[in-house]
Amino acid sequence: MRRGLTILVDYHLHTKLCKHAQGEPGDYLVMAKQKGLDEIGFADHMPVPTGYDAAHRMEIGDLEKVYFTELRKTQKKDGNPTVRIGIEADFVPGLEDVLAGVLSGFPFDYVLGSVHFIGDWGFVSRKGVGEYHRRNMDEVFREYFALVREAARTGLFDVMAHLDLIKKYAYFPDKTYDPWVWRTLEVMAEYDLCLEVNSSGLRAPVGEIYPGPRFLSLARRLGIPITLGSDAHRPGEVGWAFDRLVAAVEEAGYDKICLFHKRKRMEVSLH
Ligand code: ZN
Ligand code: FE
Ligand code: FE
Ligand code: ZN
Repeated sequence: MRRGLTILVDYHLHTKLCKHAQGEPGDYLVMAKQKGLDEIGFADHMPVPTGYDAAHRMEIGDLEKVYFTELRKTQKKDGNPTVRIGIEADFVPGLEDVLAGVLSGFPFDYVLGSVHFIGDWGFVSRKGVGEYHRRNMDEVFREYFALVREAARTGLFDVMAHLDLIKKYAYFPDKTYDPWVWRTLEVMAEYDLCLEVNSSGLRAPVGEIYPGPRFLSLARRLGIPITLGSDAHRPGEVGWAFDRLVAAVEEAGYDKICLFHKRKRMEVSLH
């Protein structure tokens, strides 16, 4: 019989430095403790010195001055749960060198890779929703997963976050998009990347975790390790719906989870 997960981590917490999240890191820590999490990691939106999407991320100068300083204080507060310092880095074709420069300059525990833009279209933000009506969804999904595969192949990231984020507003292609996801998982396996299982889709119109539960058993068969994230933008979202996340990963046969420290991955048994 399954005894259930005994190690619980939430590796996708934002801070108000990104201009669209609320609360102090200490408030996230308090919530994490209340929810019985063993380890948390902040992964705020990465600054991009060229000014790319400046409205949704911290300035480069704040990375050391504020982000690391505040999170190191939070790490020292208590020690339970353990606090890791990660970053959510956008993959943008053409900005690889800029990203690599920032990522190599700071002692992150892990780097989440994500795709939030197709060209100039920020398909995640409310402002971009109208565009879903104007575009061909077969094309959009094909392009999105091609970008995720391109991101996976850069070697810049440790974890791919919210793998099928393009479904957020519940616009779908006419044809199945499953083969795009399968191909993306195959590339992740080839490049030894960790897969984030993210509960924030349950708070979005799509009402489903990222990636959809049906993709987790393939990920498991391909030997892709996982981590868990809530994508919390406020303290109340820490560990959001983790009962459902845990049920989905156990259903897929996972009994291990990844932890990261200074970009070294450890797999920890879940029970
Ligand atoms: Zn955000
Ligand atoms: Fe994201
Ligand atoms: Fe996020
Ligand atoms: Zn995110």
